[in-house]
Amino acid sequence: MRTKQFKAESKKLLDLMINSIYTHKEIFLRELISNASDAVDKLYFRSLTDQNVGMSHGDFEIRITPDKEKRTLTISDNGIGMTKDELESNLGTIAKSGSLAFKQENADAKDIDVIGQFGVGFYSAFMVSDCVTVESRAYGENEAYRWQSKGVEGYTVEECDKPDVGTTITLHIKDDTDEEKYSQFLEEYTIKTIVKKYSDYVRYPIKMTVEKRRLKEGTEDEYETVKEDETLNSMIPLWKKNKKEIKPEEYEAFYKDKFMDYEKPLKVIHYKTEGQATYDALLFIPSHAPFDYYTKEYEKGLQLYSKGVLIMDKCKDLLPDHFSFVKGLVDSEDLSLNISREVLQHDHQLKLIAKTIEKKIDSELKKMLETDRETYEKFFEAFGMQIKFGVYSDYGIHKDSLKDLLLFHSSSEKKPVTLKEYVSRMKDGQKDIYYAAGETTDKIDMLPQVDSVKDKGYEILYLTDYVDEFALRALNEYDEKTFVNVCTEEVDLGTEEEKEALKKENEDNADMLKEMKDALGENVHEVRFTDKLKDHPVCLSSEGAISLEMQKVLNSMPNGKDAKATVVLEINSNHPIAEKLKSLYKDDKDGLHDYAKILYAQARLIGGMSVDDPVELSNLVCNLMTK
Ligand code: ADP
Repeated sequence: MRTKQFKAESKKLLDLMINSIYTHKEIFLRELISNASDAVDKLYFRSLTDQNVGMSHGDFEIRITPDKEKRTLTISDNGIGMTKDELESNLGTIAKSGSLAFKQENADAKDIDVIGQFGVGFYSAFMVSDCVTVESRAYGENEAYRWQSKGVEGYTVEECDKPDVGTTITLHIKDDTDEEKYSQFLEEYTIKTIVKKYSDYVRYPIKMTVEKRRLKEGTEDEYETVKEDETLNSMIPLWKKNKKEIKPEEYEAFYKDKFMDYEKPLKVIHYKTEGQATYDALLFIPSHAPFDYYTKEYEKGLQLYSKGVLIMDKCKDLLPDHFSFVKGLVDSEDLSLNISREVLQHDHQLKLIAKTIEKKIDSELKKMLETDRETYEKFFEAFGMQIKFGVYSDYGIHKDSLKDLLLFHSSSEKKPVTLKEYVSRMKDGQKDIYYAAGETTDKIDMLPQVDSVKDKGYEILYLTDYVDEFALRALNEYDEKTFVNVCTEEVDLGTEEEKEALKKENEDNADMLKEMKDALGENVHEVRFTDKLKDHPVCLSSEGAISLEMQKVLNSMPNGKDAKATVVLEINSNHPIAEKLKSLYKDDKDGLHDYAKILYAQARLIGGMSVDDPVELSNLVCNLMTK
């Protein structure tokens, strides 16, 4: 029989397992049971729509059989099974999402820890065994196949006899060493303990034939040893257990195993409702965004159970997009088991459940914000972007419920702030909520317009995410206070006299400003004097719906290339440059044109933008220097 090679990556993982010095080798059993349970789930699913399966929920089981003489441990299931191709592709390659993530995120990390925190699947069998045999017959197939491997050298596949559909995995347990007593995995007691510890909530019975001593019938002191099937797991799903009796570690282990995360969740939400919608929910907020979270590949959804039985793996109708990061499950009494997916989508009960779930997540997040700020900030760092998307997507219909979940950097606080906190600190007479957008808080802090608003003692929200400004625009106002970008003409800080004086200054110099605007052509919509700037000579501001930052964002999108902000070059009327410009206008028009170009370039640089023609700028500056 030809020995086939493992794929390179699988070989690496396999090697890691075989030579693992990881101390919790017992988790191999959890992994194999979990695979068996998944396989049973799949066939059970099938049975809902396919009469030919001929099995019902109660017929499914997972069986563990230790054999001390042969030194083998067998785990078998009557699940969906694997075809010859599936045996090769599933067990010859790392296909599983979890292992893949493990590989990508931890290429250099210490391998040992990772194994413990994280399911590594089928290959973990090699931590305790020197030969693994998998015999499987797939549902609907007449032939069964045997896959066998002694490690990295490769594996063989051949036909075999197996009357029933399902999979039997036989581990030949390694010899004991000084460090490791592998024989323990053949002991009934150890097996029971491991199953109880990791797989208690598995919904199918995990059975083992155990030897029991009992009084011989009809005698008073004669004992006999009988063999009896024992179900090792309680089969009570974690979410059906009393909250008070569940240890945090149990939630953690459940979450990591079920949702393929190597970090514990940031928050566990476990509750039960009765009344209009009767269901148990066990929800988790992950502590970090999955690597594909902000991509199209990510699929939101909760597992949906009906009376303890899984009916859908990712029910997306249970979660709104803005809470798509939530993992978990819902178990309802009210849903029919045989309900088809199409019908489910329109199910009134399901909608009701979804609504209450959204409310619950919302209130839990708000509670976290109030009582555990540090955790909330961690949450917001991971998923805040999604909340902001939520504010402006769907035409802003969720904005009212989401606005109090937002956090922004602030010019005056060391920590991110809520809009409520901002408003509570607003100064007497302050009408608007000020914000400025840029790449980083440091860069924003250097904007001339920011300087002058800060100087007046006002707090400014610093927006560093590209979605921030879109979210604020969608909100439009908070607590009847309008959001105002400090880099637009909407900023209204001066007194009536000051405004009057500025208006006059602009009118008196209208011709000169027009001359400068013409020198700059299409680049700017207008050139004008401002009294907003403190020390800086110039700045760029914008008018209308699209700010300069938004223009940057829109232009980077595939179909937003035409978005254009209406740009205004503002000149500090209190800066010496103002007088200089006026005198140039009288005596040296060409000089005024050059100055306009240099000032415009400066304003762009200060605003974090690049200069269109650096060579021209350099020549202009050099000319001035040598004059
Ligand atoms: P994972 O279970 O995370 O996908 P594994 O390496 O544990 O990764 O298993 C790889 C694949 O092999 C599984 O996805 C499944 O398709 C298949 N498999 C493993 N064990 C069984 C089993 N007992 N019955 C049917 N298929 C199985």
